[in-house]
Amino acid sequence: MNTGAMRRAQLVSPFGVGAMSVLVNGTSVITAGLDYWYRPDDASTMALEEYQEHDWRLEARLQVSEFRLPPDFRRRGQGTDNRNVKLTVPVLRFPRWCFCMFCKRLEMSTLTMQQPVVCKDTKHADWKHKPRMSQVPFVAICTAGHLDDFPFDKWVHRAHHPTCNGTLRLKSLGGGGLEGQRVVCDKCENDRNLRGITQARFVNGEERTTLSDQLASPDNPFFCTGARPWLAKMEGACDLPIRGALRAAGNVYFPKVESSIYLPRKEGAVSAEMHELMRHPAVSGTMRTLHSIFGSGLDVNMLREQLLKNVPPELFGPIADEELIAGYRDLLGVDEKEPETGEEIDAELLTGDDEWRHPEFQHIRQTPKDDFLTTTDPGSHADLDDFLERIRSVDILRETRVLRGFTRVRDDVLKLSVGKSLLRRKPLAPVQDWLPAYVVKGEGIFSSSTQHASLSGRRAPKCELEHKKLPITTAK
Ligand SMILES: [Zn+2]
Ligand SMILES: [Zn+2]
Ligand SMILES: [Zn+2]
Repeated sequence: MNTGAMRRAQLVSPFGVGAMSVLVNGTSVITAGLDYWYRPDDASTMALEEYQEHDWRLEARLQVSEFRLPPDFRRRGQGTDNRNVKLTVPVLRFPRWCFCMFCKRLEMSTLTMQQPVVCKDTKHADWKHKPRMSQVPFVAICTAGHLDDFPFDKWVHRAHHPTCNGTLRLKSLGGGGLEGQRVVCDKCENDRNLRGITQARFVNGEERTTLSDQLASPDNPFFCTGARPWLAKMEGACDLPIRGALRAAGNVYFPKVESSIYLPRKEGAVSAEMHELMRHPAVSGTMRTLHSIFGSGLDVNMLREQLLKNVPPELFGPIADEELIAGYRDLLGVDEKEPETGEEIDAELLTGDDEWRHPEFQHIRQTPKDDFLTTTDPGSHADLDDFLERIRSVDILRETRVLRGFTRVRDDVLKLSVGKSLLRRKPLAPVQDWLPAYVVKGEGIFSSSTQHASLSGRRAPKCELEHKKLPITTAK
């Protein structure tokens, strides 16, 4: 079985959807698309609310209704509680090509192969234990995020659709580098080294790759076929040049992670208890339904009435009208300025980092008091007055980090819809859509000088805010 353990946060980044990693047994795998997450053997044990997280600003920015933490693995529940047992994040075996260390034979396995691949070459016919094959170090990538097996059979035969079906071998002949790696066909005796397979150049402003141009001939280029093995789709549509890459190379996967510091819509309006209550599917479900009917015009009495009807009364303690409606607004992101037409296209490219971070900076430098964001003024020594404009002790802070897609070949701009389309087979409407995330609860020190502001974590080993600079400049 292909199993392995990974830290949950790593399943958002760096080993999120579409990323390759190596399991402890040496198998190279790719993290499967979001359609395959949270699929327990027994659907009745699924309790999704445990993994749901909200950050209204980030939800609006990424056009989703919620975020989800990667599941933790629990073999069995506690007592009779079987919720979320044996939930895993699936991976697929990739690359599919493997080769034999002894006879160099190349063999194509499958994405779902779970047993080790054994070499069936006649060279080991008399071996008691047939050798296990290893996966090849080469893959092929394109700038649209596709990832394919390296086309060894096509490359050695210099043909898009080779007719020869001879046994292939991947031989390494000293000298190092790709030049020393050769693909050889037993039957037709074609023999070709891998020189140049990772190369690309610009010709008249258009990018061309050696693999596409030289596989057959420059007049008959071999283009990407749009393979997305993490979605178990090895065919698609794409006509971009494709290039070879080492599967461990840095240009194979660039995760796009968006981060947000939770800012209360209205400071102190929604307590931690109210946030917790809204994790209950009966509460969030009722709020969502009402939102689809009434939007921002929902009356608090109607909200209370419907919640009392749908939510077990023991959950629903005394909550003031103001908090109830504030919770509703926070969960559904209502009161947000609707994007005007024309802004929508820009939204695809997301707002700049400075613009996005500015409200966070604005909030933290005040002294907010909220169950999810609290900072205080510890005061500073008079000697520092010339250097520091203000210091804040950040007592409670909540950062959500979300994977919204990835690029390959280079760390490029990625449109929102394109990034999402790489993460799952079928796109979801924003009201159902979600993205994988993890939440970091931290604390730290915020200081701003006349030059810059910075936020650094302390006493919170998992806090990743250390040295993070808020990209703003502030005048005294
Ligand atoms: Zn062999
Ligand atoms: Zn051949
Ligand atoms: Zn492609």
